Amino acid sequence: MVDLQTHEQRSLNMAAIKASNTLPEIYIRKILFSEGFRYRLNQKNLPGKPDIVLAKHKTVVFIHGCFWHKHQCHLGSTPKTNTDFWIKKFNSNVDRDQRNVQSLLELGWNIVIIWECAIKGKFKLPENSLRSILLSSIRDSTNRLINICGSKI
Ligand SMILES: [Zn+2]
Repeated sequence: MVDLQTHEQRSLNMAAIKASNTLPEIYIRKILFSEGFRYRLNQKNLPGKPDIVLAKHKTVVFIHGCFWHKHQCHLGSTPKTNTDFWIKKFNSNVDRDQRNVQSLLELGWNIVIIWECAIKGKFKLPENSLRSILLSSIRDSTNRLINICGSKI
C-alpha cells in the first residue's frame, strides 16, 4: 500500500489523535470501562464534541483543561505576556463552552465536566473519590450539569 499522505497531513493527523487521547481522558475512560460503562468518543455531531458519550445514560462527559477553558484554579492562570490576547482567547472559549452546554441541555443531555485539576496537580482527587463522584454524577440525572474539580479551587 502506498502512503499518499504528505508529511504535513501526517503531523496534523498525529496531533488530532494525540488531542483525543490525552492522559486525563485515558484515565477517565479506564475508570468508566472498569465500572462496566460503554461509551463513544468524540461525537462530532454533538455541540462541543464531547470527549465521552454515554448514550444509555443520556450523559456526555467533557474533560476540560483548566488553562484553555479558564477554570478559576491554580492551573488556570493567565499568562503575564500578551495578556490582552489571552484574555480575548479565554473569553471566547468560555462563551463557546456556555453555548455548547446550553445546546446540549436543550437536546436533553446531562453533562459532567471533569476539570483537569481533579485529575492532576497538587489538589487532584484520590482515585476512589473521583470514581465515586463520577459514578454518582452519571447515575443522578436530577442534577443535569455537574462540575468535578480539584479539592481546592
Ligand atoms: Zn481547575
